[in-house]
Amino acid sequence: MKDCNCIFCKIANGEIPSSTVYEDEDFRVILDLGPAAKGHALILPKEHFKDVTELDPKIAAKVLPLGAKLGTAMKKSLGCAGFNLVQNNGEAAGQTVFHFHVHVIPRYEGGPVIAGWEPG
Ligand code: 5GP
Ligand code: ZN
Repeated sequence: MKDCNCIFCKIANGEIPSSTVYEDEDFRVILDLGPAAKGHALILPKEHFKDVTELDPKIAAKVLPLGAKLGTAMKKSLGCAGFNLVQNNGEAAGQTVFHFHVHVIPRYEGGPVIAGWEPG
């Protein structure tokens, strides 16, 4: 762990309990504390990268397929009609936790498309 004060490092590595919906050797996926929609999840790499500019290419190659897998699972389990994969880099872009993560936001028929999502 590069940054021992990072909350997402602690969550991703199981030091702090979380509502985990998926885990493998590289990632933990948790439910967002302030969900934009029911089932809003966050993909956290277990290794610390502050944002996409620091991301290990091996992790980068795995993160979109995982997002697709989670979105597909959400359609089946939550009945959403679609999903957003959202990823913020830097304060000006709405990043509030400086440990790379991807939001997986289920979208429901008749629900807001992006207006319901307020970063931070
Ligand atoms: P960002 O704005 O950095 O892209 O997203 C950070 C997200 O992490 C926000 O949606 C916020 O609700 C969520 N979040 C912040 N702290 C915690 C936490 O301790 N636990 C969980 N589950 N989510 C968190
Ligand atoms: Zn971290």
